[in-house]
Amino acid sequence: MPQLAAWLVARGEPVYRARQVMAGIHHPEVTALADLTELPRALRSELASAFRFSTIAVTHVIEADGGLTAKAVHELEDGQRIESVLMRTPARGAAAARTTICISSQAGCAVGCPFCATGQAGFGRQLTPAEIVDQVLHWHRTPWLALGTEWRPGAHRGHYNVVFMGMGEPLNNASRVFEAVRLLNDPDRLGIGARHITVSTSGVVPGIDRMVDELPQVNLAISLHAAVDELRDELVPINRKWPIAAVIEAGRRFADRTGRRVSIEYVMIDDLNDTATLARALAGLARGWLSHVNLIPLNPTPGSRWSGSPRPRIDAFVEILREAGVPVTVRDTRGREIEAACGQLHAQLAGRALPGRLVAIGSAPVGAT
Ligand code: SAH
Ligand code: SF4
Repeated sequence: MPQLAAWLVARGEPVYRARQVMAGIHHPEVTALADLTELPRALRSELASAFRFSTIAVTHVIEADGGLTAKAVHELEDGQRIESVLMRTPARGAAAARTTICISSQAGCAVGCPFCATGQAGFGRQLTPAEIVDQVLHWHRTPWLALGTEWRPGAHRGHYNVVFMGMGEPLNNASRVFEAVRLLNDPDRLGIGARHITVSTSGVVPGIDRMVDELPQVNLAISLHAAVDELRDELVPINRKWPIAAVIEAGRRFADRTGRRVSIEYVMIDDLNDTATLARALAGLARGWLSHVNLIPLNPTPGSRWSGSPRPRIDAFVEILREAGVPVTVRDTRGREIEAACGQLHAQLAGRALPGRLVAIGSAPVGAT
């Protein structure tokens, strides 16, 4: 914003223009700088030649679950591709309806988890703060988020959550991810509350400690996936640098200092990490501090040597954790039919041109991005 304000002032524009432009480009119905019709025409064209409207060049969206899940592959200006997903959960019983936008922090990922499509594809490059924020803005401009024309910055606080669970290891790009979080928080932009944002990490300990200092209100999820180092060295190779004890200690420091419950993510892989012995080991790690275990049945990548744990094994695992007093939930595998796990749609479309169209929602076709 200061950069934009300086640019406008240098052109003799009144100071309120910066806020007007900011509010304008975040409006769900604005898809180009030319749409900012409340601005003088000459200024609009000057803005358009000085600034890009979005860092995303092309977006291809497919939907599943009757429109409750929509997944986007975004092509950036240098041809790198990243993914973001929007998931809607309708109200059920006392639970209110909820929308989650899952975004990427890097093109690819260097951590190399063998069950993850992004990890298998390797590292592309870091995303800039703008490229991270533009994924959220993409969904703002689609009917899936259903913001309506009454939208104004901050008006939809709590309307949806943002999770860094797309491609990439956010804490291997911590400074840019933190800047993106501050931009998402900015009341002149989207005004998304920090408590509605979650950073998921494979266990970058110094990054977790930085979160305590720099983003204490943002939620932390730790992708543990194994409760013994020998197995975690294979499943989450960054474990060789920061083993389980160090990651759990960092999680505890985060919980103690912020008062926020840390989510321990655990992908359930058939006959690999889903035994009763490992459930007890996991209970030992999660017990006695402000944590919560979230079990995720593996969504196998094409050609995967592993499959997701069968339901009875998941239930038995849950029971052991519950008996040990550990809060536990099982995540539903939404969007399986559209390859919604990390990096999978990207892998499927690799080497092919993106059609760059938005698909129809129900029977109502929507415009191209
Ligand atoms: N790099 C970060 C965030 C992105 S991955 C991390 O690992 O936490 C987001 C989540 O998706 C992680 O918990 C990851 O382990 C999980 N995931 C990756 N591939 C998956 C798959 N095939 N099935 C289920 N979950 C998967
Ligand atoms: Fe990277 Fe996360 Fe995938 Fe592991 S699970 S390879 S850390 S994106």
